[in-house]
Amino acid sequence: MADCLFCKIVAGEVPATVVRETPRALAFRDINPQAPTHVLVIPREHYADAAALASADAGLLDEVVRTAHEVAVADGVAEGGYRIVFNTGREAGQTVFHVHAHVLGGRGLGWPPG
Ligand code: 5GP
Ligand code: ZN
Repeated sequence: MADCLFCKIVAGEVPATVVRETPRALAFRDINPQAPTHVLVIPREHYADAAALASADAGLLDEVVRTAHEVAVADGVAEGGYRIVFNTGREAGQTVFHVHAHVLGGRGLGWPPG
């Protein structure tokens, strides 16, 4: 999709620190990390948010979540615990409208989230 930052990362037009690749998903470190592990996992195809992805291609949503877990294992945070967050919509803090799972770990994570 034109003018989508994460589509540009998929296309290699914007650099990113990629940590995992699958046929349909890509994982890269967040540019402004909020925890020692803060990785974004996206489908290569453009969907605006998790609900749009789930409606259109549930198998792909599985791949995003599976990849998020693999990232947590690779970063050594799976055993201690980690959080997968899909900010969905403006009031939830979504700023990039290409669905992405935040994988957060490596420190105690407060609940409820702010
Ligand atoms: P959202 O606020 O939409 O849930 O999350 C967007 C995330 O993308 C933010 O955590 C932000 O730091 C991250 N981000 C924004 N621009 C870039 C970029 O150019 N590269 C990377 N790696 N992350 C980005
Ligand atoms: Zn996109």
